[in-house]
Amino acid sequence: MVLTIRCLPLRLKIKQHLVLFLFVLNFFFIGSVHAQWYSETRPIMGTEISVSIFKESTSVNQNQIEKKLKKAANIVFEEINRLNESLSPYIKSSDLTKINEFATQSPIKINNEIKFIIEKSLNYSEISQGAFDITYASVGYLYHYREKVHPSQNQIDSHLSGINFQNIQLKNNTIYFENKNTKIDLGGIAKGYAVDQGIKLLKKQNIKIAHVMAGGDSYYLGSHIDRPWIVGIKHPRDAYKIALKIPVEDIAVSTSGDYERYFVKDGKRYHHIIQPKTGKPSTSGVVSVTVLGPSSIDADALSTTLFVLGVKEGLNLIKTLPNYDAIFIDDNGKIHYSTGLISPE
Ligand code: ADP
Ligand code: MG
Repeated sequence: MVLTIRCLPLRLKIKQHLVLFLFVLNFFFIGSVHAQWYSETRPIMGTEISVSIFKESTSVNQNQIEKKLKKAANIVFEEINRLNESLSPYIKSSDLTKINEFATQSPIKINNEIKFIIEKSLNYSEISQGAFDITYASVGYLYHYREKVHPSQNQIDSHLSGINFQNIQLKNNTIYFENKNTKIDLGGIAKGYAVDQGIKLLKKQNIKIAHVMAGGDSYYLGSHIDRPWIVGIKHPRDAYKIALKIPVEDIAVSTSGDYERYFVKDGKRYHHIIQPKTGKPSTSGVVSVTVLGPSSIDADALSTTLFVLGVKEGLNLIKTLPNYDAIFIDDNGKIHYSTGLISPE
């Protein structure tokens, strides 16, 4: 795929950083500030979670700073472990597994956190007319990407009635599924929530400059020392390439792509973002969507939503959300920006 990048978009609010940005582009990867960061990565939630914190003060003993930041990062990892244990569909004792096991029989009690995440999900289902739908899992659980297994048309047909966010009844602190085939999965939103939680915990410890990443979901806290952070958006068809770079500050950035989890069988690409209407991988003509905005849970849900909607409908939706912007890469390699991002000619 040849990407046709005409120019680099800049987030409006950091337009003034343009000159500095060009400077950073040249020197960012040289790593002159490497020793000034504490970074750690662990595999949780089926992906790589990384925490990088800037070592603000150099006057204090380096060992002490290192210790303090290790502790701060550990608090984030513990929180994300906690979330994984509650929200994972692969852990037998998780809240999510229990919901899927019993919510078709009678209303199941849920805690405020799960209620919040499900309410958020339902909001994105409403505003996207069902493009984002956590009940996609009613069919979605029949895909096994590592084993290259996908459901047959018969299997899809017999489970498809489970997909409909309106099958979910949330009342007070209980959840009930009106359809016996319904299952939910929070893979399109939980990592964004985990990133928000991580950033909240770092802020609580008075950390001003940091980056928390959960797979394709990130939050960039503060600026990259005195410059914007430079975020590289992966080339959707070449893992060693960056499709484009954008300068950001204090912002969540989430990318959904058809290259994250997929297999090819009989010449067909089976990826992990499901069109709820069909129960099959979405074929909206988009291969990657990046969303930028103030909260990671929203950016995460939105990137999945816009992926399913495609460029035209996706741009129409993002237009209605003033704090959020999006960058689409379509299957011809063309890049489309929402109106909040400017493309200087
Ligand atoms: P990643 O998991 O790589 O961060 P996304 O944020 O794009 O990717 O979310 C994709 C995940 O969202 C899938 O792996 C699946 O768990 C879930 N998902 C797939 N299709 C939908 C959909 N239509 N609505 C909501 N969630 C979905
Ligand atoms: Mg998502």
